Amino acid sequence: RRHLITGTVGAAAVALTASACASEDGGDAKKTVGIAMPTKTSERWILDGDNLKKAFEDEGYKVSLQYANDVPDDQVAQVETMVSQNVSALVVAAIDNKSLNGPLAQAKEADIPVIAYDRLILGTPNVDYYATFDNTQVGTLQAEYLVTALDLANQAGPFNIELFAGALTDNNTKYFFGGAWAVLEPYITEGKLVVKSGEVELDQIATENWDGAVAQDRMDNLLSTHYKGEQVHAVLSPYDGISRGIVSSLESNGYTELPFVTGQDAEVESVKYIIEGRQAMTVYKDTRELAATTVDMVLALLDGKTPEVNDEETYDNGEGVVPAMLLTPVSVDATNYQEIVVDSGYIDAADLQ
Ligand code: BGC
Repeated sequence: RRHLITGTVGAAAVALTASACASEDGGDAKKTVGIAMPTKTSERWILDGDNLKKAFEDEGYKVSLQYANDVPDDQVAQVETMVSQNVSALVVAAIDNKSLNGPLAQAKEADIPVIAYDRLILGTPNVDYYATFDNTQVGTLQAEYLVTALDLANQAGPFNIELFAGALTDNNTKYFFGGAWAVLEPYITEGKLVVKSGEVELDQIATENWDGAVAQDRMDNLLSTHYKGEQVHAVLSPYDGISRGIVSSLESNGYTELPFVTGQDAEVESVKYIIEGRQAMTVYKDTRELAATTVDMVLALLDGKTPEVNDEETYDNGEGVVPAMLLTPVSVDATNYQEIVVDSGYIDAADLQ
């Protein structure tokens, strides 16, 4: 479906002709799409970059794909370079949602359409469209999983829970946590869930750079300060890399029966943890679908058409609402990983051995 794997034979022929022409006149930069991704330290961004590159190439574009190792200034420099090379369009997954206003103003000047990829860019009128998953729903799925796993409908508890969030520089962080908090807060108010550390504000629970080692340190501190002789029963974790840091901390602090720990991205390593019973769940977001959606948006814009969106109210970046296509995240645990991530071809069964 759509532009995912290969174009039709006809499209491929057109694509070849286009790139042949482009190289004849000395490398037509107009036919290049610039893709700025945050980091290779997380599996999903590697998949995103690969999927986008392949899908654009299948449509006859060249691709400049850059990773910035989670350093905002490096990403700014990469996007500036792409603009100066006069790329046809920019697809940007921002590291710091507020750092890109300068280069995006230059992109506007040069008439280069800009798609915010997965993460919204704030404080600039120069983002044309936003392709992402329903970020609030990601948090809802994580929290609902914990509510069901602890059977809060029938159990009085109290159960101890600790909360982790992502990087404050990532606009998604507040949506993930907002979705989760809306589900958890009533149980905290009722006293069925207790956050013994008292840390429930985003700036207390955020994880710099989404870094698992940072989360591991914080979990170590929480355990030594608040859990002498007490158990943690659940941990809200926003992302698989953070989840594995939390599990490492728990295991090195002697937990044999682990609390329910959530996650996101269906990274291979975390799906293994799920199979082993060390992480309870993850939220699967099919990066192939996100790439296909993004390619559709770019092609429509370059064709003078209006891209398809399904949300025109949620994502206000401070300069107005950015029209968005929100894809659907899926909750994955030991009972459905086979069907959802293996049978769909997202993860190779052999990689889970
Ligand atoms: C993405 C998540 C990812 C996180 C850390 C977020 O912006 O939406 O899928 O887990 O960044 O890389």
